[in-house]
This record gives sequence, structure tokens and C-alpha cells, in this order.
Amino acid sequence: MARCPNCQKNNLAGRTICYACGTALQNNNPIESVEEDLPATICSACGLLNPPRTFFCENCGNQLGVRDECS
Ligand SMILES: [Zn+2]
Ligand SMILES: [Zn+2]
Repeated sequence: MARCPNCQKNNLAGRTICYACGTALQNNNPIESVEEDLPATICSACGLLNPPRTFFCENCGNQLGVRDECS
């Protein structure tokens, strides 16, 4: 786990930016196995495959449309 210094949410190890607020995280832990059976989220801006439940693209920081399922 890597705790976001901005919003204090726990991010999965290996993330480079906070899934919730997009703040850069400072951890170099190896990527652990993420949640299974959840689809990856493709960034509409750069096309990067982000792990499930990622709200901001790990490559470009683009906000991903997965914050709320019911729009
Ligand atoms: Zn955060
Ligand atoms: Zn992106």
C-alpha cells in the first residue's frame, strides 16, 4: 500500500499517482497482484491500460470515467 500524501487514501503498491486525486506517489514497490475480474480502464487520452478502479490515468493524469457507474 502507498498512502497518498494529499488525500490519505491507500493506493495499491506500484502506483505512481493516487487513484483518487492524481497526486504523485513516492513508492517504488513492485506491483502486487491487483483485484481480479475487474476490467482495466483504457485512458481516452493516451490509450494506456490503467488498473481497475483507477480514476486518473497513470501515464498522463487524464481523468477516467469510472468514478461513478450511475450517471
Ligand atoms: Zn490522493
Ligand atoms: Zn492517459
